[in-house]
Amino acid sequence: MPLSPEQRHDRAKKASAARWSDRTDWETIDLEEGMRQLASLRSEVERGGLILQRRSENFRVQTAECYNPDCRKGPNGTRTIIDIGSGRFAGSRTRHNMSTGMIETAYACSAACYLYMGSHFTHASASPRDISPTVSEPEVVLNEAAKNII
Ligand SMILES: [Zn+2]
Repeated sequence: MPLSPEQRHDRAKKASAARWSDRTDWETIDLEEGMRQLASLRSEVERGGLILQRRSENFRVQTAECYNPDCRKGPNGTRTIIDIGSGRFAGSRTRHNMSTGMIETAYACSAACYLYMGSHFTHASASPRDISPTVSEPEVVLNEAAKNII
């Protein structure tokens, strides 16, 4: 059975109240109790941050192919694999891929490959500004002072 607009309104009001019921009213809380709660929250945030950072490090990429596709120092002429953790590579570049919204990083094993990367791993050019209307010449000059100058 569909809810009436009043029932829907009541349900939304109850849901909102439930969402905010566990929030602290920082304006009216006893100052000492507020400080205690704030310290507790900070401690929990710190703990959560450390745990999530440790967990995300497990997913961090350890190796990468050299960005230069012609660089083949791997076994049997395969692409060169760079051990990122060792730090033994000539350089890296990071860019923001506009089409995916992702941050991309490329690594180069040597100075020569870094030069290659510099000219090929570039930022995408800005898309044409198709949102701004084309500017046309004004047909009538309304500013008399400007008209006199022209
Ligand atoms: Zn290379």
